Amino acid sequence: MSSMSDCDLPPRPLKRSISYNCKNLVRQHLVHVENRLFEMFGDKEKNTIDISRFLLGLTATGMRHSDPRLKEMRENLKKFQDKIAASDHHALNISYDTFMSIISDNLEVIVKAFSSSFVIPDFRGFCHHIEEIYAKCLTNTDGKAAHYIPQLARANPDHWAVSVCTVDGQRYSTGDVNVPFTLQSCSYALNYALALGQLSDVGVHIYVGMEPSGRHYNELCLDYNNKPHNPMINAGAIMTAALLKPDLSAADRFDFVFNMYKRLGGGEYLGFNNAVFLSEKECADRNFALAYFMRENKCFPEGTRLHETLDFYFQLCSLEITAESGALMAATLANGGINPLTGDPVLTVDAVRNTLTLMHSCGMYNYSGQFAFKVGLPSKSGVSGCVLLVVPNTMGICLWSPPLDSNGNSCRAVQFCMELVSRFNFHNFDNLRGHFTSKCDPRMAKAESKAQILFDLLFSAAAGDLSALRRHSLSGSDMQAKDYDGRTALHVATSEGHLNIVKYLLYNCQVYPLPKDRWGRTPLDDASSFGHPDCGEVIIECSKKRGIEIPLPLSDANDFHAD
Ligand code: GLU
Repeated sequence: MSSMSDCDLPPRPLKRSISYNCKNLVRQHLVHVENRLFEMFGDKEKNTIDISRFLLGLTATGMRHSDPRLKEMRENLKKFQDKIAASDHHALNISYDTFMSIISDNLEVIVKAFSSSFVIPDFRGFCHHIEEIYAKCLTNTDGKAAHYIPQLARANPDHWAVSVCTVDGQRYSTGDVNVPFTLQSCSYALNYALALGQLSDVGVHIYVGMEPSGRHYNELCLDYNNKPHNPMINAGAIMTAALLKPDLSAADRFDFVFNMYKRLGGGEYLGFNNAVFLSEKECADRNFALAYFMRENKCFPEGTRLHETLDFYFQLCSLEITAESGALMAATLANGGINPLTGDPVLTVDAVRNTLTLMHSCGMYNYSGQFAFKVGLPSKSGVSGCVLLVVPNTMGICLWSPPLDSNGNSCRAVQFCMELVSRFNFHNFDNLRGHFTSKCDPRMAKAESKAQILFDLLFSAAAGDLSALRRHSLSGSDMQAKDYDGRTALHVATSEGHLNIVKYLLYNCQVYPLPKDRWGRTPLDDASSFGHPDCGEVIIECSKKRGIEIPLPLSDANDFHAD
């Protein structure tokens, strides 16, 4: 009996109307957000938008103006600015229509940014933590730079860089983030991912194991199957190098990896340090010994050219990144192999999953087990003092500081990782069912239930937090919502004398100026009770403009809450 296929089914006229409705909903949402953007940055009376305020707001979400996803917006803006004389001060205030035409090509990502839909909604708050942890680790003067080659021994021990890139391309960098350093064994993780892409896990693991070795990273030993233990230690990394594009010439193999790394890092800094390469090659007795030992044990695929493989391995260790470009590479791993900024699918999901798995169990030299226990995140460390840290589906972090501990890991980087997971529930096994914990989850929008939203709205109004109120407005919160006592954000802001918030609520959000709470009090009564006549004047002015009759003040207005 033939099974019923899609073609046998009667036509489904509903489908069109469903998709039509969906499109309509999307369009409605966009219109809503456009209006909100206008409320945030616009002047309703003049029908203009302050573009510099808009750009500042965008930066606060974690997006950079140089972000490739804003290319068209930058070009449109430049064209517009070129047309306007530089001396024209009004050029910053542009008409609503011009504004929309400037941002329209990149509207989707802009909407995402401003509607708190990025993976870290409160990115500023998160960066504040990163800055604090950075400063704490800066005072750590433990450790010594690697000294097996002069180029690494000469590293400045004060260098310390942290760069973060989320899977939504939100970025934050602090410290020496533009100073280049060599990847060293951080390259092992990337090479392994590339080899998986070519040969799949089955093909790669014919030649290399997947067990933590429990031995020193360059120890002369193989596992029970006569394979190097895993791709994250020297023997396994030399093997991985042998597997990468063996049919190409040495030059083309290098080009291939260089181009793949470049894509992982979204075209950002990638260099080659020839002095390090020459030094590595010069001081490589152990790596030569490992390669010969593996050849003796018939570990390599047939036809492997040993010296060319070692050269290739030294070259890959000598590739240079900065913390900035490294963060983007790590973010690509966090994002399932798709570069968050360029959208380039550099690695397959499977390759990324397998790479993260082995980074998790084997990425931190002889400290890997403890690191997995204490930090619980995939990471790969290199002797230059670099650590690529991945918070899967959330962000990539590149840490760099040359002084190393006795395991060969950067002292400051390890401290940073510990601090990070003590504040946020990033450990793989943290908070499995959302039980109460002292750690916070920056991935969760602050307010979720209606009650929480209202609480946060009133709290933000009381605290005078204008940007929080803007976020509320943008994500569609009812700005004139009342609590149990009938108090609104306008009541609270007026009671606290936050004139800017009062103006924002009245003029940008168009809230009703004279709502009554359950005691019949309006914000105007609060203005007089709590001694904020400036707020009272704005409320009166706004009510007059809107033709709203102003009630007589309550007789007890001056004694309200007098205690
Ligand atoms: N180039 C170094 C070596 O082969 C890499 C060491 C490392 O970063 O672990 O020994």
